[in-house]
Amino acid sequence: MPFIPTTVEEMRRRGWAELDVIFVSGDAYIDHPAFGVPLLARWLEAHGFRVGIIAQPAWRSKDPFMALGRPRLFFAVSSGAMDSMVAHYTPARKLRHDDAYTPGNRHGARPNRAVIIYTSRLKEAYKDVPVVIGGIEASLRRFAHYDFWEDKVRRSILFDAKADLLIYGMAERPLLEVAERMRSGECMADIRDVRGTCRIGREVPPHPAFGHPLPQGEGVGVREIPTFEEISTDKLKFAEAFRLASREQNPYSARTLLQRHGDRALVCNSPAFPLSETEMDAVYALPFEKAPHPCYQQPVPAWEQIKTSITSHRGCFGGCAFCAISMHQGKLIQSRSESSVIAEIDRLARQPWFRGSISDIGGPTANMYGLACGNDEAMRNCRKESCIFPSVCTHLETSGKRAADLLLKARNRAGVKQVAVSSGVRYDLLERQPEYFRELVGHHVSGLLKVAPEHLVEHVTTLMRKPGGKAFEVFMRHFEDESARIGKRQHVVPYLISGHPGCTLADMLELALLLKGLGLKVEQVQDFTPTPGTLSTCMFYTGIDPDSGKRVYVPAGDREKGLQKALLLWHQPEQRTKVLEALGKLGREDMAGMLLTGYGGAPGGVRVDSGRRAHDIRQGKKAPPAKRR
Ligand code: SF4
Repeated sequence: MPFIPTTVEEMRRRGWAELDVIFVSGDAYIDHPAFGVPLLARWLEAHGFRVGIIAQPAWRSKDPFMALGRPRLFFAVSSGAMDSMVAHYTPARKLRHDDAYTPGNRHGARPNRAVIIYTSRLKEAYKDVPVVIGGIEASLRRFAHYDFWEDKVRRSILFDAKADLLIYGMAERPLLEVAERMRSGECMADIRDVRGTCRIGREVPPHPAFGHPLPQGEGVGVREIPTFEEISTDKLKFAEAFRLASREQNPYSARTLLQRHGDRALVCNSPAFPLSETEMDAVYALPFEKAPHPCYQQPVPAWEQIKTSITSHRGCFGGCAFCAISMHQGKLIQSRSESSVIAEIDRLARQPWFRGSISDIGGPTANMYGLACGNDEAMRNCRKESCIFPSVCTHLETSGKRAADLLLKARNRAGVKQVAVSSGVRYDLLERQPEYFRELVGHHVSGLLKVAPEHLVEHVTTLMRKPGGKAFEVFMRHFEDESARIGKRQHVVPYLISGHPGCTLADMLELALLLKGLGLKVEQVQDFTPTPGTLSTCMFYTGIDPDSGKRVYVPAGDREKGLQKALLLWHQPEQRTKVLEALGKLGREDMAGMLLTGYGGAPGGVRVDSGRRAHDIRQGKKAPPAKRR
């Protein structure tokens, strides 16, 4: 199927004089389901809409936004796979110089706060054409939120962008419903009840519903959360608003949320229902070209990293505090059928450039493929944010058999020599998945298994909603035993976060010593970034754990964060001065000998391979450099 039109000439070749919906994206156009805008464009196209894509328009003038003319229904705007501020700045707020979603890895192809800027240019160009905003930037900034880059609480992005509607989460259902209703003659201003959307209520309550009937059925009701003005000036109110909103994420029981901003209010309808397996299969069977648009002269790093990677499912029920996946993709796992994944592998194997290696089969968490709540009634009424923290819910079906069967079949397909799993795995779940564990360790590790304990000190992992050090030690033992049993020399690569709320310098020293005791050396430590919409960001800003109401220590400033990071990178000569400074601050100069000398762990440094980058890109994270040793 030809690429979605990006020029008038490409429209003409399809015989189109006008489009129904025009997407504007902060990413280059890569026609692959790992990228949200192309996926949604193909989805609407399959439902009979004429769609076009304007990718990475020069935003200083309205002209590039008029390249495809005036759409019949609306514009759909996304910053791309990442929040534009996360894409542009390091955790120390320094400007990045690369962008994996742009040809040539070039920085500067999209503006800061892309959703706001794009919408504003579109309104300059076509004042009366509705604009729908979506994607991760809009989704996670749907309520008033803390913005790390301005160090202040900002209004809902819907107020700043002056768009007509915001779609949050996975957009297939809401976007299609809005498009179909507009095609049937409804106007955007009257579309108020679509699940997965937010709008601005112009009349002040009495609610419910600002003078319109709420949708009937499950989840009916309105919950008001503290106002923008309240949370801007009162951190306890901020924590309360966060806690209340995060309890209303279950599509089967969530209420409409309302947050006043002055004399208006953000009205956030209940989340969209998840896609069924058949619907997921239909989405991934859309006729993608599986390539960047031919107009690009230079390679797009994100494509190079994703092209041999397969998405098997969406959603994550881990509920990790620093991760926005459950607020964006939801807690319920939406899996593709085995036959759908295998069909994609067979298509990949026929590509002339395919060399036989699949870099990843997974999703946000690889070993959640095919898992679900085993009690329908409990699931429909559940308000828990994690099915596995602080302990595995008795209703959760945890068998890894389906995921193990998928890996087994994938590696036996014609033309496939190797299948890696680069998506993260929850090692506390692996305990209950012996078939998957054996399959993973036996055939899909390639010498290094990447796991993300993030920390090992119990009170920090509790705030992170991760399993603690003991669970990691048990996992390490099992991994080593299984590797020895099958006669393979394999190692674990731990991913860790420094500077997370609750983590002191002393905790970091303890972590460094625990890792050293386990024979693990880390080459990469993620400095905690307070991205919009996460529980960790709420703790960072407020210094309060919204669940318990207790105060949380927040590492102060870049200097302390640098020292925390250095303690884990003790083996790198350039960190030595900082390590000694950290030990001095702790009054533990006596530890210098133990920490800075000798290393008896796994040989060599660790690699960050393309599979891990593919997984990160699928989750909208910043792609790390090509290779680190
Ligand atoms: S009842 Fe348990 S398994 Fe089911 S959704 Fe809730 S936490 Fe998850």
